[in-house]
Amino acid sequence: MMASFVTIPSLLALFRIDRDLHEYQIALEALLKDQVALEAKIGAIAADIAQQEAAALKLQASIGAQDLDLKTRQAHIEKMREALNSTKTNKEYSAILVQISAEKAEVSKLEAAMLENMEQLEKDQAATVAAREQLALQQGLLATAQGESETRATELRGHIDRLNVVRSGCVTKVPAEALKQYDRLRRKYPGDAMAPVEFDDDDLDNISCGGCFMALNMEDVNQLRGRDEIRRCNACSRILYLPETQANEKTRAGEQHA
Ligand SMILES: [Zn+2]
Repeated sequence: MMASFVTIPSLLALFRIDRDLHEYQIALEALLKDQVALEAKIGAIAADIAQQEAAALKLQASIGAQDLDLKTRQAHIEKMREALNSTKTNKEYSAILVQISAEKAEVSKLEAAMLENMEQLEKDQAATVAAREQLALQQGLLATAQGESETRATELRGHIDRLNVVRSGCVTKVPAEALKQYDRLRRKYPGDAMAPVEFDDDDLDNISCGGCFMALNMEDVNQLRGRDEIRRCNACSRILYLPETQANEKTRAGEQHA
């Protein structure tokens, strides 16, 4: 009796292909996702390096300005020292000494600030060197990953292409109205539009949908056994099939071949 049915067996053949197709698509997307993540990491490190280099330039400019200021003040101190020799009164002499001492205080403040900047610059430059090493490492990882995943991606695309060829043969065997319903559900549940009715022949009080695990009843089983039409789960609306239903034999052979 089952052999004369078309709807569920033809949908089941299609569903099995779509389930495999979906798995291959997911694997392909995951492969690309890993690369995108690695590329983002590399981009972030490169941005860090650019920022560190800009900061280093700024610091170098600031050190240059401080150095110029320092030299000007040191020259001023020299000039004042010379002026000490030509002073005529003690009062004038000690006034210049006060000025020299004030300028010396400025000089030592400047020297301290400059030293701090130079230490910071050294730290920044060390960080940049480390970041460059990290960048090279990640770029190496990416190149390896790209090589490996290209092989795997080619393999996956091959499976997908072959399955799509088999699929286009299967689609023509599904009654039009059933195909319409199936296609709608396929968008809602990619690779998962159909669900087996789960039950034990010894315990027919426990019948459930294999998709959402909600309870079904004997009427669902009887209708699937007796009529060549679609029956859907009331809870999740997946298209139900009985575990005993075989997909179209020719299609299964084609699927295995793929
Ligand atoms: Zn369900």
